[in-house]
Parts: sequence; structure tokens; C-alpha cells
Amino acid sequence: MRKTSFYCFGVDIGGTFTKIGLFKIDISNLINKKDEPKENYPLNIYLNIDNFFINIKLIESFKIRTQDPEKSEYFFVNSLYESFKKILSKNNINLRKPIAFSFATPGFPDNKVKKVVGGAFNIPFLDKIEFENYISKFQSSYLYLNLINDVTSQGYYEQNIKKEIFKTEDDIALLIALGTGIGGAIFTKDKVIGGSNGWAAEFGHLPLWFSKLGGKKNLCTCGKINCSEVYGSVGSYVRMLKGKGKNISAEEALNLYIKNEADRDIMEITEFWIDSLSALSATLINIFNPSAIIISGAISKVAELSKIIYKNTEKYANKYLFEGVKFYNATSSDLAGAFGAVIHGIKSEFHVLKEKLWKKDQ
Ligand SMILES: [Zn+2]
Repeated sequence: MRKTSFYCFGVDIGGTFTKIGLFKIDISNLINKKDEPKENYPLNIYLNIDNFFINIKLIESFKIRTQDPEKSEYFFVNSLYESFKKILSKNNINLRKPIAFSFATPGFPDNKVKKVVGGAFNIPFLDKIEFENYISKFQSSYLYLNLINDVTSQGYYEQNIKKEIFKTEDDIALLIALGTGIGGAIFTKDKVIGGSNGWAAEFGHLPLWFSKLGGKKNLCTCGKINCSEVYGSVGSYVRMLKGKGKNISAEEALNLYIKNEADRDIMEITEFWIDSLSALSATLINIFNPSAIIISGAISKVAELSKIIYKNTEKYANKYLFEGVKFYNATSSDLAGAFGAVIHGIKSEFHVLKEKLWKKDQ
């Protein structure tokens, strides 16, 4: 029996907080059936790559602030560095042991140059970070460094946790991530579709039409007009509420709407917001003929959210394609992005692992 293991940091960089998880990865070419977890506990799963059984398990997690008032990358990389050191020493892991790093980032991370090349509007310094430089300062003999878009990485997480959404081998599932903007992921039972550069599924920048839109024309952060996130993101929901003098969170407004306690303004804004998300969902249903749509983001803590969007989507989607599409709220886990990044790293760097760990151990 061949066996090896290593540690990997999964890091999910968000606008406000960055979540860090230390994961232990065990690789074996044989598996004892009784070792396999009965169900995929959210942060302990088995993957099968080329008939190797790979167990990924969370050891420790940590959260740091992404931006200081001066919004400098130095503050961020220094606190990252300190957290890595703290987590390793707390778990008695030798700093000289090879460790892997996988970062989930907003915007457009380029895994070839190991940089974010743009699109992370909420973290202005993100495209200045030379990930390779910082990691090699911390660990000169790291196993690999992997970058992935933060919503695509959530796709890896949901794919491995929510296996019941797939009825057949050919099924497609879509993730719509609601936050400051709108992100997306497209995945099947075994694949997450990254596209040519790993940037597929920018659902937030599909231009929309929906009945409540009227003749509105509004500019998106990307420079185009009437992208779905201009109306459907949680950021725009809150902005619309503020515009009517309502200083409440999106979650509070949505809950008032659900309980039929919303005043006229909150009701109209909420219906407008839901309508825009339904138009987006319908567009996606008509393109992908998916088996499921999963809604993620902090707002998905409102249990009824996916049901409401589902009901309203019927008026925009083609009726044959709409039938049978299941809408879910995402499996809520603070570490979904970090965990997904770790899975993606192992899948794309498996050749490196075989080369670096396997041969040495034999
Ligand atoms: Zn846009």
C-alpha cells in the first residue's frame, strides 16, 4: 500500500474578511471501506483521482481582516504570514515540511502568472500582490501555489457536498453567488467548468431585461449597461433600500417581505430585486438546461430565498426547460471557498504531487 500526506492552506480572500483553513491531505492507492466517511461531512471528504483515494480534512481555521484603513497590501500579506505561522505552530507542524497553498480570490486570478489580473473592484490592492514572492518568503520549498476564482471554488465545494442534486451523469448544476456583485459557477458531477482562463460563469455581467425594469439604464462596474448585478446583487438591493430611506439589511428587508410585514417601499424594492434574479435564472435555465440552481451568499441564510426566486422564474423561463429544475440555498459553510480552493489545487496539481511526494517516499 502506498500512502503519503501533506498540509495545504486554503485561503478565501473576501472584501472584508479572509478565511484561512489548514487542511490535511492523505493520499492512498488503497482504501479500507470502513475508513470512508458514511456521508460527506462538509469539511471531510474523499476524492478519487486516477484511482488514488484522497482524504481532505479541515484541521484548523482562522479569520483575518482583509483591509486596513489605508487599504494597503502590506497589512494584508503580513497578517496572512503571521496567521500561517501561528496555525502551524499551534498544530506542531514543522515549518520546513513542504506545504501547499491554494487561494480563492475575487476577480480574475491567472494561475499561470500567479496573480490576480483584474476585476476585484472591492479589494483595490489585490492585483498588486505577487503571490509567488510572498509564499516563497514564507516557505522556500512549498509544494505548489494555486489560484482560483472565489465563486468557481464554491462550485468545487457544492459539487462534492451536494451530490444528491445530480440525477444523471449529464446533469449540469449552476451556482449563483449573491454579494456586493453576482458571481457564478457551472459544474457537473465530475467537472467544474472553468473556461479558457478559469473565468467562466460571470453571471453578474449578463445584460438583463425583466418586466419591472421599464426603460431603466444603469452603468455596471464593468462599464456596460444593465448587467444583472446592477439590479440583482445584495449590494444593489441594499442601495435601493437606502435610496428610499430604509437603513436595514437585505436579510431584514427580505424577512419583512416574507412575513407580509413590509411597507410599500420595501415591498416594491424586494419585488424588483426578485424579478431581476428571476430573469437571470431564466436566462441561465434556457442556456444550460440545468438540473439545479444553487443560491449562495450570506442572504441565502433566509431559508425561503430559493423558493421565492424559483416561483417567480416561471414567468421568464421556457416552460419545457423550467420543469424539473430544483432551486436550493447553498450549504452554508464559512469555509466553502477555502475548501473548494483546496480541492481545485489537488485536482490541477496532482502530477506535481506524484512527482514531489510520491517518488521521495518510495
Ligand atoms: Zn457588468
